[in-house]
Amino acid sequence: MLIVQKYGGTSVGSLERIEAVAKRVAKTKDEGNDVVVVVSAMSGETNKLIEYANYFSKTPNQREMDLLLSSGERVTSALLAIALSEMGYKAVAMTGRQAGIKTDTSHTKARIENIDTQKIERKIKDGNIVVIAGFQGITKDGEVSTLGRGGSDLSAVAIAGALRADLCEIYTDVDGVYTTDPRIEPKARKLEKISYDEMLELASLGAKVLQTRSVEMAKKLNVNLVTRSSFNNNEGTLITKEENIMEKPVVSGVALDRNQARVTLREVKDKPGIAAEIFRKLSDSNINVDMIIQNVGHDGVTNLGFTVPENELETTKVAMEELDASKSVEYDSEIVKVSIVGVGMKSHSGVACIAFETLSKEGINIEMISTSEIKISMVIAAKYGELAVRALHSAYNLDG
Ligand code: ADP
Ligand code: ASP
Ligand code: MG
Repeated sequence: MLIVQKYGGTSVGSLERIEAVAKRVAKTKDEGNDVVVVVSAMSGETNKLIEYANYFSKTPNQREMDLLLSSGERVTSALLAIALSEMGYKAVAMTGRQAGIKTDTSHTKARIENIDTQKIERKIKDGNIVVIAGFQGITKDGEVSTLGRGGSDLSAVAIAGALRADLCEIYTDVDGVYTTDPRIEPKARKLEKISYDEMLELASLGAKVLQTRSVEMAKKLNVNLVTRSSFNNNEGTLITKEENIMEKPVVSGVALDRNQARVTLREVKDKPGIAAEIFRKLSDSNINVDMIIQNVGHDGVTNLGFTVPENELETTKVAMEELDASKSVEYDSEIVKVSIVGVGMKSHSGVACIAFETLSKEGINIEMISTSEIKISMVIAAKYGELAVRALHSAYNLDG
């Protein structure tokens, strides 16, 4: 078999951990498989690099950020290859560029356009374990790019897809995908299987166990994706097609997204073209707007509220100042988004009601709501985030 294994930050968080990973990789190779490994930076490393940059600037140059951030993964990939060689295995480390990972030019959240796998394939053929630095690629202009936070998951899935690997294993610090973040709710249960669509929603709503775009890519390329722990040998969670899952609970999981901030524009002119102008500006600044609420207009003006990722708030402020679209602008980063997800919702009514009642019983005010076929999201005050997750987890009978 050809197996792609990705090891996240905590899995390579120290030299001892890298040694443990080397042993796991070696064992997979010994069992007769070809192995391609994708690694993250040591845990905390990427955050530290961002802090370094923020010491000088709140809105640092994105090109330079990519050069800076890609360095963390370079370190771990080289160290793992060195460790494997020392154990007597043929191993070669590669950066994103060396691995042929071509991306578009949107620095710090680049999209993979294609992967030229020739070099990887040649190295595998020569008997090497190929170790690739995750989270990074190269633009058509030869600039280093990174794939957004948690992007090593995407590197692994994209490489697995391009190589038509038999399996892509994402090794992390939890046994698999749980009904909610087990750090918030110890009663969370591990799911044996979850559909691509549900995982996609959970990930995009804050369950960082898998990066959103990696799930999107896995679905598109039909990658056999498994998440499991690098700290034990427990069975993980299989992310697969909906038809491969027999039992479909109404609600499969609860997610919490802390990386949220709200922008409120007061007294925006209530006339055609204003919303277009505002959201065009945000889109040109590469900001991902999520929930949008426009109040009923009054006296030719209205209020407009929307949410953006908290780490894009500074860029949002710059964009709003340039636009000058309203009388005043308020920013609030003391909010979070809590969501419930389940394919079973499609065929059940009254699911949303339970969520609203549950939060009301806890005295939590819902400030914004959005729904889709398989999810319900609510914006609430940040201080209630974990309480809301636990209450919803219990209300939908997910407690183990
Ligand atoms: P890595 O560094 O290996 O990529 P991450 O920290 O990105 O690991 O993701 C793993 C973390 O995701 C877990 O430690 C857990 O706290 C969190 N998490 C959030 N939601 C879930 C969930 N539904 N199931 C499992 N883990 C979750
Ligand atoms: N090191 C990067 C991050 O912390 C990418 C990753 O770990 O997947 O976001
Ligand atoms: Mg991650």
